[in-house]
Amino acid sequence: MKKGALAPVLKLNLPPSDEASLSNFLTESGTFKDGDLLVNKDGVRILSESEAEVPALIQPLDNQLSLADFDAIKVIGKGNGGIVRLVQHKWTGQFFALKVIQMNIEESARKNIAQELKINQSSQCPYVVVCYQSFYDNGAISIILEYMDGGSLADFLKKVNMIPESFLAAICKQVLKGLWYLHHEKHIIHRDLKPSNLLINHRGEVKITDFGVSAILPSTSGQANTFVGTYNYMSPERISGSNYGYKSDIWSLGLVFLECAMGQFPYSSPQPGGWANVYELMVSIVDHPAPHAPSDQFSPEFCSFISSCLQKDPKDRLSANELMAHPFITKYDNQDVDLALYFTGAGPSLAAF
Ligand code: ATP
Ligand code: MG
Repeated sequence: MKKGALAPVLKLNLPPSDEASLSNFLTESGTFKDGDLLVNKDGVRILSESEAEVPALIQPLDNQLSLADFDAIKVIGKGNGGIVRLVQHKWTGQFFALKVIQMNIEESARKNIAQELKINQSSQCPYVVVCYQSFYDNGAISIILEYMDGGSLADFLKKVNMIPESFLAAICKQVLKGLWYLHHEKHIIHRDLKPSNLLINHRGEVKITDFGVSAILPSTSGQANTFVGTYNYMSPERISGSNYGYKSDIWSLGLVFLECAMGQFPYSSPQPGGWANVYELMVSIVDHPAPHAPSDQFSPEFCSFISSCLQKDPKDRLSANELMAHPFITKYDNQDVDLALYFTGAGPSLAAF
């Protein structure tokens, strides 16, 4: 059939909604675009050429996507604020990740949350996890995300223990592109860059997730100024309560990649058995010299890259754009570094399988 012509509406014989498996707060039907097909519960239509020119595989239309359109497959992760499930769209078979964050918030805060989540939804960048839709109901925020079948860099690091420099450069290049997009195009400070917020897939792609979410959480958890999460990757200026900006994310990036290279978190506790409390670690980050990559274990390019990120004064750190041109990132440009093979070769326990 010619593109642009309307296909005869094909009535789908759909199973009754399995709301109970996910949530009972949204029951309206959804409309999906898959390639040049438009699918909803009333049928399937072939889109015109102009309608079909949307880059993502499936785009929700008219905010009509509903939780009732998904089957829950399994739990794939748990964070501080909630739970992440692998879900499957009933009509297209497409997999997504559904993140549900429980929170008790004032009715008046709902609008702010919706606003913040809209930022996530408007992101169009191959290095940032797509947020298709978010809902608020009954004390919970549900977010339908692009599914990354390799899980997080934190999960991966547990399996491989440490990551060789050539693979780190390839991973870092993608993270820098995502970070540059967030900083330069969207004017967003991530605020919570850490290994569990960098997701990977079997195609060797690395994408940033959970940006903006940490900006919502402190103001909505009912405990003002309470950061729920880890302080490990927080920049000194942020911990000490000074003004902070995009360079705060660069500090976190440096710590993440130094940890991946060394196989352990760069700040080691003064006593055996780990940090006695979070304040001890925070004092170390603010008062002690910044960590560095040991020059007898790593290349000069890597050591220089890390010290371009881990500067106590944010003004001394390079920007994401400047870091993309750093010799550590460009060094492997002519070598065939195959991240897809590296990620999938690390074992069968990728989140999907
Ligand atoms: P915290 O709550 O402290 O920020 P976290 O980042 O691990 O920790 P979540 O963001 O809730 O918490 O994610 C939990 C886990 O779920 C992640 O570590 C990852 O393994 C998995 N996960 C999250 N989002 C996705 C996704 N889009 N695709 C695949 N797996 C995901
Ligand atoms: Mg996360």
